[in-house]
Amino acid sequence: MRILVLPGDGIGPEITDATLVALEAVRDRFSLPLDLRHDVVGYASQKQHGTTVRPSLLDDARKADGVILGPTDSLEFRDEGKGEINPSKFFRKGMDLFANIRPSRTYAGLPGKVGEFDLVVVRENTEGFYADRNMEAGNGEILVTPDVAISLRRITRVCCLRIARAACELAMQRSRRVTIVHKANVLKVCDGMFVDACREVAADYPEITVDAVLVDAMMAYVVRDPRRFDVVVTTNMFGDILSDLTAELSGSLGLGGSLNAGAEHAMAQAAHGSAPDIAGQDVANPSSLILSTALLLGWYGRRTGKDDFVAAGEALDRAIEAGISAGEATRDVGGRLGTRVTAEALAKRIRSA
Ligand code: ATP
Repeated sequence: MRILVLPGDGIGPEITDATLVALEAVRDRFSLPLDLRHDVVGYASQKQHGTTVRPSLLDDARKADGVILGPTDSLEFRDEGKGEINPSKFFRKGMDLFANIRPSRTYAGLPGKVGEFDLVVVRENTEGFYADRNMEAGNGEILVTPDVAISLRRITRVCCLRIARAACELAMQRSRRVTIVHKANVLKVCDGMFVDACREVAADYPEITVDAVLVDAMMAYVVRDPRRFDVVVTTNMFGDILSDLTAELSGSLGLGGSLNAGAEHAMAQAAHGSAPDIAGQDVANPSSLILSTALLLGWYGRRTGKDDFVAAGEALDRAIEAGISAGEATRDVGGRLGTRVTAEALAKRIRSA
């Protein structure tokens, strides 16, 4: 499996290094044929190449079997004309990674903030309110006058149908429950289309129980009773916000693993951002990117029929849980270890399992 590794900004390099320590452990344990290629995006790329992402990286990513992308700064990269391109958008759009799969669950040994739960947010990843990716040319945000601004939200039936199918396929491997999260009471046209498309696809899966919840009510329900939910399908911005909440409810945003998947390609990327407030301090929780990498290995293993990759992904998952249980974890989940030592403890556990 060829993997392109891009560490990113803020805590990105720290959690990427930690992820590689864990990845080497599963490679050794399961004799995985891994071929890792390393490159740069974000500030490191800007410094070396004058742009936050070189266009040629898209070809490299497409040729690889998967990408590991560390979090990158998204606030400061504003002017694409000056080479300030959002790397996350660049790969998601460039490789048509339409499904953002964000599982959140509670862990043994970590007192959950709202009790035990295990759900997956399936977020549409290529359109919606994301101004930098929802137009063929130009940008979906318009400054009409210095004091009047408009943001355009694009919803297309084809994108709704394919994300709905991804959610239903996932639900068939889980508890066969899908919740559609939307705001069709206000956004009647766009979210009306989203809900209709989800229901249309779900009709192909009579075993699945479907319900629909307004996004604002969802914020209350998921805090009140997260066990009610299994697979939650929603549009881009709602999914981004909801999955930060579910990750934090599971214990920490640092547990937010996420996979960006398309028909042909996939990219592991933590659910959170570059966390500049804790960058360089060796306190960031690497679990998010390790869990994302576990999802990538599982995706590749299932796609190619290579069970050892699926087993490696599961081993990473189990090792994270065991580490939290043993207190061999970062401070956000009740431990006292640094980022690097947490990963080394995890690697040791995997090798000795
Ligand atoms: P960006 O501008 O890149 O989105 P941000 O700081 O606005 O960065 P996040 O990076 O998502 O947003 O961080 C939100 C909060 O969660 C911050 O307090 C951050 O320190 C914390 N956080 C995020 N990731 C982790 C992690 N892996 N481990 C521990 N804390 C984290």
